[in-house]
Amino acid sequence: MNTIPYKTYLHETELPEAWYNVRADMKKKPAPLLDPTTLKPVESSALEKVFCKELVDQELDDTSPYIAIPGEIRDFYRMFRPSPLIRAYFLEKALGTPAEIYYKFEGNNTSGSHKLNSAVAQAYYAKAQGLKGVTTETGAGQWGTALSMACQFFGLDCHVYMVKCSYEQKPHRREVMRTYGADVTPSPSMTTEAGRRINEAHPGATGSLGCAISEAVEAAMNREGYRYVLGSVLNQVLLHQSIIGLETKTALDKLGVKADIVIGCAGGGSNLGGLISPFMGEKLRGENDYRFIAVEPASCPSLTRGRYAYDYCDTGRVCPLMKMYTLGHDYMPSASHAGGLRYHGMSSTLSELLDQGLMEATSVTQTQVFEAARMFARTEGILPAPESAHAIRVAMDEAVKCRESGEKKKIVFGLTGTGYFDMFAYGKFNDGEMKDYIPSDAELEESFRKLPKID
Ligand SMILES: *Cc1c(COP(=O)(O)O)cnc(C)c1O
Repeated sequence: MNTIPYKTYLHETELPEAWYNVRADMKKKPAPLLDPTTLKPVESSALEKVFCKELVDQELDDTSPYIAIPGEIRDFYRMFRPSPLIRAYFLEKALGTPAEIYYKFEGNNTSGSHKLNSAVAQAYYAKAQGLKGVTTETGAGQWGTALSMACQFFGLDCHVYMVKCSYEQKPHRREVMRTYGADVTPSPSMTTEAGRRINEAHPGATGSLGCAISEAVEAAMNREGYRYVLGSVLNQVLLHQSIIGLETKTALDKLGVKADIVIGCAGGGSNLGGLISPFMGEKLRGENDYRFIAVEPASCPSLTRGRYAYDYCDTGRVCPLMKMYTLGHDYMPSASHAGGLRYHGMSSTLSELLDQGLMEATSVTQTQVFEAARMFARTEGILPAPESAHAIRVAMDEAVKCRESGEKKKIVFGLTGTGYFDMFAYGKFNDGEMKDYIPSDAELEESFRKLPKID
């Protein structure tokens, strides 16, 4: 018998009682959001027209290290949390590495990803404020699914604008959302000004996240008793996702294991930010040192090739501007199969941590990702989401380096979800038809030219 168990489950009573806000321990804070009309730091009153009040407070709070998790949210969490921390014994053996690999598995709920952690919090605060419903966008469909589950639970209407190509390619995701009572509209639609404008300018447009965000914000602003919610990028979402890192830290402490490297995939940065937060807090306070690695697709390389600048969060420029690593708000990522990693920007907190040299970032191509996904599925039994497999790829690469150097490093990564709705992409890979796309410098320069000029 191995001394460390294959799976470490915390008891329900060990579920964290508060989220951890890493911004409180950052000496240099992420830059403030700017109002898109005045270009001055945005007032909470302006944000409250779009977002729920309590969530605006969380968004702007960069001083409170802990924010209590309301009892009703903790009760909901207990349906699927604490999630297991798994020692990847079989993957280690297949790689022949002396490294220890651990992963935190967030795919154990119907939404199939970590997104439910924030969806339930956002739906709870919307209900507590007495709202009728919320609007949102979804790209690959995971966020829309998670939000529809949470809204159904709290008795809120849920209107999802789903990027049109996903709406057509992923009818099963759509039906999960409808089963939970959500109203799903393919975007760009003709039901909003933003959607009509894009449909007129680009007939037959198959949609993008930036465009679906504009539609969802507009729909919320025009309807009494509605607000807009977002599943990534924002500080509040990182805060809710800190539950992943807090549980991971508790489990590792119980095992007596100190991580050396913590790895996660980065789309808008919420799962990675949540996973690394408590570890980053120790690093910021000078208590411990860790290496943190963000992994992004080579086709949408905001952290590794983007500019650190103020940019719009959406195509329609209705949301506040954010200082972040960005490829430009008009950047159209190629049809990467990891739909959840196709956003042009990145969380401002992670952007600032990268800029301060406290975190590293790397990018991987799609075929490298699916090779890792296949090996992981065959060794560890779980069929991973393509997004999650970005983290698997780099965890495997780091473990192989240990095989060469003989180091017994402790590698921890976030396994954000399962890939059952991504079998079209797996099919392309299995047929040897998957193509890698890496944008040229010229293409990126073209997009950077459209960044707003702000000092
Ligand atoms: C949405 C999603 C991601 C990426 O989003 P982040 O906000 O960067 O965490 C990663 N994995 C899965 C399974 C997702 O659904």
